[in-house]
Amino acid sequence: MDLLNLSACDIPNLVKQKRVSATELLQAFWKRGTDLNPKVNALLAFNDDAEQRAKNIDKGLVKPGRLLGVPVVLKDNFCLRGMKTTAASRILENFVAPYTAHCVQRLIDEGAIIIAKSNLDEFAMGSSNENSYFGASKNPWDLERVPGGSSGGSAVAVSTRFAPVALGSDTGGSIRQPASFCGVVGIKPTYGSVSRYGMIAFASSLDQAGTFGKTVREAALPLGAMIHRDPRDGTNVDVPYSELLGGSQSLKKCRVGIAKEYMVAGLSSDLSRSIESIIKKLEAEGCEVVEISLPHTTFAIPVYYLVAASEASSNLSRYDGVRYGLRDIETPDGRPAADLAEFYKMTRSRGFGEEVKRRILLGTFSLSAGHYDAFYTKACQVRRLISQDFTQAFTHCDFVIGPVSTDSAFKLGEKTSDPIAMYNNDILTTPVNLAGLPALSLPLGLDSQGLPMGLQVIAPAFADDRMIAFAEALEALIDFTEVPNV
Ligand code: GLN
Repeated sequence: MDLLNLSACDIPNLVKQKRVSATELLQAFWKRGTDLNPKVNALLAFNDDAEQRAKNIDKGLVKPGRLLGVPVVLKDNFCLRGMKTTAASRILENFVAPYTAHCVQRLIDEGAIIIAKSNLDEFAMGSSNENSYFGASKNPWDLERVPGGSSGGSAVAVSTRFAPVALGSDTGGSIRQPASFCGVVGIKPTYGSVSRYGMIAFASSLDQAGTFGKTVREAALPLGAMIHRDPRDGTNVDVPYSELLGGSQSLKKCRVGIAKEYMVAGLSSDLSRSIESIIKKLEAEGCEVVEISLPHTTFAIPVYYLVAASEASSNLSRYDGVRYGLRDIETPDGRPAADLAEFYKMTRSRGFGEEVKRRILLGTFSLSAGHYDAFYTKACQVRRLISQDFTQAFTHCDFVIGPVSTDSAFKLGEKTSDPIAMYNNDILTTPVNLAGLPALSLPLGLDSQGLPMGLQVIAPAFADDRMIAFAEALEALIDFTEVPNV
């Protein structure tokens, strides 16, 4: 049996029927990870408890849930009790989580095995995974290119077959963009549907946990368990559906919106050709394809980077050298910090990387007394307009489809010296987070350089189940089967 390519959806039954043992499955993925991770730097640590967990499953000591024996990789901003949770930051390099994130506990309760933690941009701030304190992860389709970010490690882990599924977080595109760069499926559910309890905070009004899988069905499987009411997250809501999977969405009479602002100049010709071709296929299936407009898209980048940085500056104030992680009381010239302010300065200037500092500065500035209304309040107002664009669009269509980013994976180092170029990369993903909507990225094929391209599907809030059914129908039309040759 080809253990590394088993569907996550088949594993629980195979394990239950003892046709595959959880231990042999774990060992197969473990070996793959040990052999290939040095090339791609996607995994930061293996979970030492995984082996015992697999043994317990094989002995019948674990309740046979819907994820029985399924190995799962966690982006290293999800807390797992007893394991280091670093957010790829020096400030948390030695932080051991004292508790487990709600959504991770849900996976464990359903029988999953947490196999490893994956690389990310520090505190999930980035679009290329190059901001990690532990070094960039590499794209398995071309080791000289970025895997995308910030959940690059998780996308690479699924694409390279270190696990059948992985968790990520999406604040402004961090699941969809790396999924598209690595040729896997990435789903960001409606804001509020997965509890943020135990997921390290970046920008609380945007952060949302989600999943990666080889197929839509596999990515949806853990997500179905993760979407679960949790009173510990004040923004967590009860969703109106009981199951994510199992719905069906007929393409006949389905109204699919194409946003003219998303088919922008600068979109690679391979991408626009592939999207044109999928539109033709949808029409042949009886879909009604309509042009829609999301007129405030051009403001998404400034609005997102103001809102996200403002919230980040507040969230990251907790890393003060007292309560968490790194504590640095010495000044560079070797004397102890003179006072509390200097102590904070020592810890934070050594603990945080460049990009995180940039955002703390930007966010603190936009929240400061003299500038709050001009920047933060204004950004919140325009955020509302971006959100209303979608409300308006969804009166004309059931789903919006379009590109995830304007091009396929870029070269390592290509944008590191130009933060604005890096930010602009998020133009097609951030509007969705600002509006709180569910969206996913689906492999669309390879471009002329042999790099994966992704198709974004966006749905109205709390239509995650319909979006997934629609994406499965699309997946069947696209039929992407390529895998990277690492
Ligand atoms: N690239 C965006 C940023 O740097 C989004 C990151 C994310 O979704 N976590 O903020």
